Amino acid sequence: MTNAISFQGPEGQEDMPYLLTPGPLTTSRSVKLALLADWGSRDVEFRKLVKEIRDELKRIAGCDDTYECVIVQGSGTFAIEAALGALTPNKRKKTLVVANGAYGERAAKILEHIGHPHERISKTDVTQLAPEHFTAHLDEDKAISHVWLIHCETTSGIVNPLSELAQAAKARGRIFMVDAMSSFGALDVNMVRDNIDVLVSSSNKCIEGIPGFSYVLVKRELLEASQGQSHSVVLDLYEQWKGLEANGQFRFTPPTHALVAFRQALRELDEEGGAPARLKRYQRNADVLLKGMDAIGIRPLLSANESGPIIQTFLTPRDPNFKFEEFYEALRARGFAIYPGKLTKRDSFRIGTIGHLDARVMERAVDAIREVLAEMNVKDMMPRDL
Ligand SMILES: *Cc1c(COP(=O)(O)O)cnc(C)c1O
Repeated sequence: MTNAISFQGPEGQEDMPYLLTPGPLTTSRSVKLALLADWGSRDVEFRKLVKEIRDELKRIAGCDDTYECVIVQGSGTFAIEAALGALTPNKRKKTLVVANGAYGERAAKILEHIGHPHERISKTDVTQLAPEHFTAHLDEDKAISHVWLIHCETTSGIVNPLSELAQAAKARGRIFMVDAMSSFGALDVNMVRDNIDVLVSSSNKCIEGIPGFSYVLVKRELLEASQGQSHSVVLDLYEQWKGLEANGQFRFTPPTHALVAFRQALRELDEEGGAPARLKRYQRNADVLLKGMDAIGIRPLLSANESGPIIQTFLTPRDPNFKFEEFYEALRARGFAIYPGKLTKRDSFRIGTIGHLDARVMERAVDAIREVLAEMNVKDMMPRDL
């Protein structure tokens, strides 16, 4: 790293930036060290490890023995497509997607592509979902059998009230499916308590593993009923589950290193005090960031009770000297990689607060932002559209 000004990245990779993104994210040194071994996928130790991971995921999600955990190779979207392809109706009945951001829209796009009947309710990316956004639909349209929505919409960082939404769908007898990709492992989730039928997440978000696989937690009876239903061979959830159950092996090459690192990440989550402790750390990261940005004068998109502790969206300053690419590169040179905006309407950028980082790192990030803005001579912090 040349032209570095006070560069000091994560332990063991001090010349690399902290990833202030929603994943892949900064992992601990010990998680990275777990990668330094080659495991045979048929090895009994490896098969035990896979079992341990599946059991631990069920435990964290508050599952009882009516649930199963199926691991799918690939990023989070692979498990989403696997779940939608296997578990949603392909004729007569349909799935209701309630979207308030890009990930909700993407789920609807997948259903469209695989030709499963669905309906979409599109709310803006600053609308926190509420039961009244879809309960009338459920009451009127008996053809809707499944509901799909996003827990933390990473587009904006907004957190939808999962328990309430699940209860509303279940009270009307519908199958409730949630993309908890960016929230699972930190935000409160309990599938039994909240009557959640299906939950999807991945290795490289709040559990703080490396990318490589995703997983579906699902009621066993739904999984059993999905035999022969999937639109895909590689994403066939039922066959994947049968393979894992039969001999503890994946049907196709598993991401061995990512799984070994993930088990280490699960152990570290437990040592930290589980999801509640992790949530507290992320919340503190978010507080430090929001307070720091407020002092600088940069405005967040969402109010404090809408934005979760996962990722914060900030409105781009209208000062003509502010250029995102320049801002990004200068922060990158100081050891912090941030994330561009993904909003549909307003100019913005995002800063993630998850990963192996704490309040001290966030304080340094805020200092770096202040320095960079001064260097760029950015003074007018008001959003562009005000
Ligand atoms: C990260 C994420 C996904 C999955 O994205 P991949 O790039 O496929 O891992 C899906 N939904 C949400 C809400 C996410 O944050």
